[in-house]
Amino acid sequence: RGDRRTIGDYLRDHAAARADAVALVFEDRETSFGALDRQVSRVANGLAAMGIGAGSRVAFLGRNCDLYFQFWLGAIRAGAVMVPINWRLAPPEVAFVLGDSRPALLLADPEFLAALETPPACPSLLTTDGEEGQSFEAWRDAQSEADPRTDGGYDDVVLQLYTSGTTGHPKGALLTNRSLLGLRDAVPEDALPVWYRWDADDVALVAMPIFHISGSGWGLWSLQHGAKAIIVRDFDPHQVLDLLVQYRITKLMIVPTALRIICDHPRATQTDFSFLDYICYGGSAIPLDLLRQAIGIFGCGFAQMYGMTETAGTITGLPPEDHDVAGNDRMGSVGLPLPGVEIRIFDGDGRELPRGEVGEIAIRSAANMVGYHNRPDATAETIDADGWLRTGDAGRMDADGYVYLADRIKDMIITGGENVYPAEVENAIFSHPQVHDVAVIGVPDPKWGEAVKAIVVPVEGESPDPASIIAWARARIAAYKAPKSVDFVDALPRNPSGKVLRRVLRNRYR
Ligand code: ATP
Ligand code: MG
Repeated sequence: RGDRRTIGDYLRDHAAARADAVALVFEDRETSFGALDRQVSRVANGLAAMGIGAGSRVAFLGRNCDLYFQFWLGAIRAGAVMVPINWRLAPPEVAFVLGDSRPALLLADPEFLAALETPPACPSLLTTDGEEGQSFEAWRDAQSEADPRTDGGYDDVVLQLYTSGTTGHPKGALLTNRSLLGLRDAVPEDALPVWYRWDADDVALVAMPIFHISGSGWGLWSLQHGAKAIIVRDFDPHQVLDLLVQYRITKLMIVPTALRIICDHPRATQTDFSFLDYICYGGSAIPLDLLRQAIGIFGCGFAQMYGMTETAGTITGLPPEDHDVAGNDRMGSVGLPLPGVEIRIFDGDGRELPRGEVGEIAIRSAANMVGYHNRPDATAETIDADGWLRTGDAGRMDADGYVYLADRIKDMIITGGENVYPAEVENAIFSHPQVHDVAVIGVPDPKWGEAVKAIVVPVEGESPDPASIIAWARARIAAYKAPKSVDFVDALPRNPSGKVLRRVLRNRYR
């Protein structure tokens, strides 16, 4: 498989070989590979007519839909770069991304037009639902369906994907065909982990947002394999349960917060999920209690994925066989590097640490981004001259090569000279029967430098005693890691990927 087919090539090949096979399903609309290929050419021709080509940006601001994939693939066919924008951002944040990426054309859901500055920092605008004169579909259908074959090469940027902004301003990671396809291309399909091998019979549910690698990446994997992708407009547990059954989904990607909402839904335990092959989960730490609950409900294979926008998604995976052994402590691991991925653990000076020691996880692989858009400083801090990408995550690797994530380095608490990783403390507290949700941060403390604080959302109707939560933690983890104080709130601040914004919580105590 060393032929280096690009995303555009995969689409053309599937359209030629299996024109009538369904590529995308969105609500009551099905699009075959043949039809998708023609729509994509129309989009590319429309873009070319507007002078949008190699190196230009186009942006999408909307909920998940099939038009996004047409638009992205059309941009690729025109040689342009897609910038998906997180629709949950506040107007100044949307303006930041538009100002940073300077798209020549924006495709938006009409409901988000109000979030744009007037005039928007973008010369042309189309909408997803056919407003007079601005309809994407009307514009597309007015173009020729002849394939212009103006796609860029394997190493050209096709996606400028902004990071989730958990630790600060989002940064635009520049991803190429190589970043998005390279790990699969490097080895024969049967050398890939079993949950990573897809074929044309697969049915994937794109339930995560397309402005995140978990959504765009999942849709792309499906297209690459000629599989069927069912696109969920907006995450809703009821609808996800319906779609799983209706389309007999085989591959589901989900973040822990969303998995939890589904598992807590009364219908979850009453449904037969025997059609599911694998649930791949990741993006943030999963509480072990939740993982066990999910395994009990779905009964399919589970694979944990660890990765980030900068690596175009997954770079390590915890295989299904490490999920079902009683007392298997590997269930707390993010698994093994995918074939072709090199992982090292660095100390603060960029020297490699021996196996077992905790340091910064660094990655070298075909999937690495080429850099951050407009951010030479941040790019230089992130990728070194030898191609090692620093993840900002602390972790270790055991003798068998399994990677254990501690937490983000920026979230590490130093209390009385000891390092405490909030994720471990949260995992210990999460199993307390009166705790619904929890985040752990360090707060300034005259004696300890920083003191561990737990911020807890109680189970509805409960008012737990802080002392009982502290005792619960002390029974499970070292005393210095247990919280010194507990506060209660109604909800934790989270970003759209479901990640707790610990920096927002920390600011409340500064
Ligand atoms: P920003 O970089 O803007 O602060 P972000 O890092 O949250 O935001 P993403 O690229 O979406 O943006 O997320 C990648 C990060 O998510 C990883 O660096 C890691 O901290 C966390 N993560 C990913 N997978 C897992 C996992 N399986 N378990 C725990 N944490 C994970
Ligand atoms: Mg990050």
